[in-house]
Amino acid sequence: MELDLDKNPESRSKANNAPTVVGIIKEENDNRVALVPGSVPQLKKAGLEVLVENEAGVGAHYDNSSYEKQGAEIVARDEVFKKSNVIVSVKKPDAKTLTKLHAGQIFIGLLQPQINTELIETLRQKSITAISLDSINRRLSRAQTMDVLSSQANIAGYKAVLVAADTYGRYFPMMITAAGTAKPAGVLVLGAGVAGLQAMGTAKRLGALVFGYDVRPETKAEITSVGAKFVDLGEVSGSGEGGYARALTPEELARQQEALNAHISRQDIIITTAQVPGKKPPLLVTEEALQLLKPGSVIVDIAASDLGGNVAFSKPNETVVTKNGVRIVGAANLPSAMPASASDAFSGNLSSLLIYITKDGVCGIDTEDEIQRDIVICHQGEIVNKTIADLVNEKRGQL
Ligand code: NAD
Repeated sequence: MELDLDKNPESRSKANNAPTVVGIIKEENDNRVALVPGSVPQLKKAGLEVLVENEAGVGAHYDNSSYEKQGAEIVARDEVFKKSNVIVSVKKPDAKTLTKLHAGQIFIGLLQPQINTELIETLRQKSITAISLDSINRRLSRAQTMDVLSSQANIAGYKAVLVAADTYGRYFPMMITAAGTAKPAGVLVLGAGVAGLQAMGTAKRLGALVFGYDVRPETKAEITSVGAKFVDLGEVSGSGEGGYARALTPEELARQQEALNAHISRQDIIITTAQVPGKKPPLLVTEEALQLLKPGSVIVDIAASDLGGNVAFSKPNETVVTKNGVRIVGAANLPSAMPASASDAFSGNLSSLLIYITKDGVCGIDTEDEIQRDIVICHQGEIVNKTIADLVNEKRGQL
């Protein structure tokens, strides 16, 4: 790979042969940390230096000494920003973090550039090189070790079932006791991507009767392979590009909602995971459907976000109880609720990427590279990702 070692001394330490310094910052409102101590030795082996903000790992149960033992240095937050060529984070930079970043620095995190176009424009203006891990092309086999979307969705799907089981007032499996027989819980999972399939498999292992549905008919084989029964709504089909779903038209969505109601009414637990890249999540469990559920039913909405979720009334990070006693858990950030495993996986993905872009101890950007051309969003004062550049220009035109 040909590295683009630009002459900017702040972004490239190559000029004086100094290794690239990678700085790990502490997340706001998230228990995860972008790199865990276990990743430090391989980064050092690649020639990188690692700085860690004081207590950056405590939310994920990694204390300062665990990083120091692996050869990282603990410093104050301001020092991380001052001394690092690359800042790594799980989440996008907030307003305070943005003021600390300086021209030529590389910022790596989950930026959701299709939604956060204003943030991307700010990063461009500040001449920050922005790398968005969620823009990775997951279909490239070389990029699979860097696929944070899958690693975090896998955790979300697993944890959603545990949250549902904990919130539900009955057993998941059939239970035959001297006091009588308890029926197994009926679990319906909507959306059969990475999170949905993991949720189906986990609910099955807990002994529930599991049903799975996705708007992409090709998911049938995957749903049955994890032990769930495929819910066939016949006419509604929404396969889009690259294995993702497309957004349904309002008419299609209304037909889908109606067809789903009959299935929803029979369940005790519903886990919703449906997403369409860059769009508002589709509403799958309507107000009408909620009324069909029994008191004590539980819905865990993984798609809950500020844009809306898959369930009427669901609110991110809140549990809403309907008048008929259905609990809707707005599970907006389940990976943060399982921070050690989520951070281990995130760190594995991120260190693969860091090592991939490192040569002789120096991180370099090559916007022609097959992997980097999707994830490098801004570089040297330009939005280099064509799709995002078009989106930002479109937004500018609307102002
Ligand atoms: P996602 O988070 O984008 O969406 C979750 C699921 O919601 C998807 O299966 C989608 O079809 C479904 N959905 C969207 N609108 C819906 C609606 N109206 N009703 C019902 N379901 C709806 O999905 P993901 O987990 O990111 O996976 C997306 C695709 O990427 C899948 O095809 C998956 O197999 C593929 N993938 C490929 C790789 C790889 O090749 N290495 C890795 C991970 C994922």
